[in-house]
Amino acid sequence: MPEAKETVLEIDLGNLAHNYRFLRSKLDKDVKFLSVVKAHAYGSDSVAIAKKLQELGTDYFAVAYVEEGIRLRENGITLPILVLHPQVLHFEEIIEHCLEPNLYSERTLKAFISAAEKSNLKDYPVHIKLNTGLNRLGFDQPEIKKVFDLVTGTKSIKIASVFSHLAASEDWQERDFTIGQIDLFRKMTWQLIENLDYEPILHICNTSGVINYPKAAFSMVRTGIGLYGYGNDKNVDPELKPVGTLKTIISQIREIGKGDTVGYNRVFKAEKPTRIATLPIGHADGINRIYGKQKAGVYVNGKYAPIVGNVCMDIIMINVTGIDCEEGDEVIVFGGPQHPVAFAEAGGTISYELITGIQRRVSKKIIPE
Ligand SMILES: *Cc1c(COP(=O)(O)O)cnc(C)c1O
Repeated sequence: MPEAKETVLEIDLGNLAHNYRFLRSKLDKDVKFLSVVKAHAYGSDSVAIAKKLQELGTDYFAVAYVEEGIRLRENGITLPILVLHPQVLHFEEIIEHCLEPNLYSERTLKAFISAAEKSNLKDYPVHIKLNTGLNRLGFDQPEIKKVFDLVTGTKSIKIASVFSHLAASEDWQERDFTIGQIDLFRKMTWQLIENLDYEPILHICNTSGVINYPKAAFSMVRTGIGLYGYGNDKNVDPELKPVGTLKTIISQIREIGKGDTVGYNRVFKAEKPTRIATLPIGHADGINRIYGKQKAGVYVNGKYAPIVGNVCMDIIMINVTGIDCEEGDEVIVFGGPQHPVAFAEAGGTISYELITGIQRRVSKKIIPE
């Protein structure tokens, strides 16, 4: 692999394929697979990722916002796309781009029915979200009858799927709660669909649901983080391969003496002669200030180099004393020798926040399978 000449997020589609096949292998053949590609496919490149997943055989996509779905449609994605968190303002665009809304409340359901009727649609696919304990989006159990009446009272829409979301599928301490959510989902869906003359897809599992509760896969699963290489579990992580590797380069190296300080507010003070390297990446690229002050570090020619001083907007300084390196050398922020989860934990956060935080201005390089 050639050395990075700038800050770049390498996106390895071979690793994506590996993760897809691993997650698929946990499921019965007839279970559909929805790939979650919201937030730029978890901070990477939603178009490249979705194209690869479409080729690998995923059945469905999900994004959070309408804008994200339109981008996929405009770039050749033809599979169904569920929009997890749409606003009424965008319902006409949803219809125009053949996107499928999650309808999670009486307000959104009624508004979508009127938009669909206004466009003279018939059997337009929608998804009904049920709240089983996360208390975020979705209909509660007492509302099921009303949902049924609204849906069957119009010809304009049809329920493509009924779904819910687990609150703590990665947490074994919460196993009883999770099983309770799955049972409630089973009851609520039955109440909703028993008198329909067709059978919607049912789904509740996210990545950790697939791993820890594969028997609750129903007819589809929704996986995000697992596709990108994270299992939310020390035992599962080694089976998956992180898709993104964040690399940068040494812009400048200087030697400083005892008592000299580095960076804003002079936070790092050298206790002895020290070699400092400067990198073209900062908090505006998604490496928060929390990683500074030697909390976290990066890898230079296979050696750990702590981040010293405050993280700046576009620059980080690292301590490379005793490390054989020169200006122009490649630096690995995460991936390769440093598992991204270890880097995230050093900053007190989780893989989800680290990778989705990588900003658009960071160059992306797609590595084909
Ligand atoms: C983001 C999201 C997912 C994906 O969860 P992972 O833990 O990344 O697999 C699934 N379902 C819903 C509703 C989501 O918002």
